[in-house]
Amino acid sequence: MKGDLHVHTLFSDGKNTPEEMVLTAIEKGFSYIGFSDHAPMTFDDGCAMKAEKLPEYAAEINRLKEKYKDQITIYLGLEMDSLSPLPAVELDYRIGSVHYLEMADGHHVPIDWKIDMLKHGVDTYFGGDIYALIEAYYERIGQIVQLTGADIIGHFDLVTIFQEREHLFDETHPRYISAWQKAVDNILPHCKLFEINTGAISRGYRTTPYPAPTIQAYILEKGGKLICNSDSHNKDTLGFEAP
Ligand SMILES: [Zn+2]
Ligand SMILES: [Zn+2]
Repeated sequence: MKGDLHVHTLFSDGKNTPEEMVLTAIEKGFSYIGFSDHAPMTFDDGCAMKAEKLPEYAAEINRLKEKYKDQITIYLGLEMDSLSPLPAVELDYRIGSVHYLEMADGHHVPIDWKIDMLKHGVDTYFGGDIYALIEAYYERIGQIVQLTGADIIGHFDLVTIFQEREHLFDETHPRYISAWQKAVDNILPHCKLFEINTGAISRGYRTTPYPAPTIQAYILEKGGKLICNSDSHNKDTLGFEAP
C-alpha cells in the first residue's frame, strides 16, 4: 500500500495518537494517510468517539496536516456507522460501515463484536434464521450512502467475520448471494468505491480480506472500484497487506 485511509487512533478505539500514526506512515514511505476514527454514536458502545471530542479530533488532524505537509498528505475522515448522527465538522471523506443492527425494542445487535452476541441476536430477533439477520445487514449497508454520506464502503461483508472460526452460514446460499448483490446494486449509483479491508487478518479473525473475491469481482464488473485499507487500530498494522 502507498497509503491508508482506514486508520483509528486514541480518539476512538485505537492504541496510538494521530501523530504517532503519521510518523509511522512517513517511515513506511506512504504518500497519504487518512484518519477514520469511529464517529460518535447514538448510544455508548464503548468504542466510538465521544461527541464532545469531535472538534478536538478535527483540530488535531488539521494541525498535523499543516505540520507534515511537506512529507505526507493527510486527510480528515470518520468511519461513520449507519447509526452515527451526521457530524458537525467539515471532513475530507467518510467511510460508511454497519457494525450494529438496531432492533424495534431499541436493542443493538453487534455484527463483529463476539460470535455469541451475534448468535444471541439471531436467536432473539430473527427466529434463529441467520439468513434473516444477514438480509437485514445487507439491506442496511445497501442504504449506507444515504444514511452517512459515505465516500468509501467499509468492510462490505463484515457479516462473514466469524466464518473461519465457526461456519455459521453457507456463502453460496442463494439468499446470501441475493442479499449482497442487491446491496452492491443499491450502493453503486451513489458511491463507486469499496475498500479491500485487511483489518480482520491483522487481528487474527480471517486469512483473507473483506470483501470475498466473488464480491470484489462483482463490484468491478458492475463499474465499482476497490481501494486497499488496513483498518489499523495501532501503528504496527498500518498499511497491512493481505499475504
Ligand atoms: Zn469498522
Ligand atoms: Zn474501522
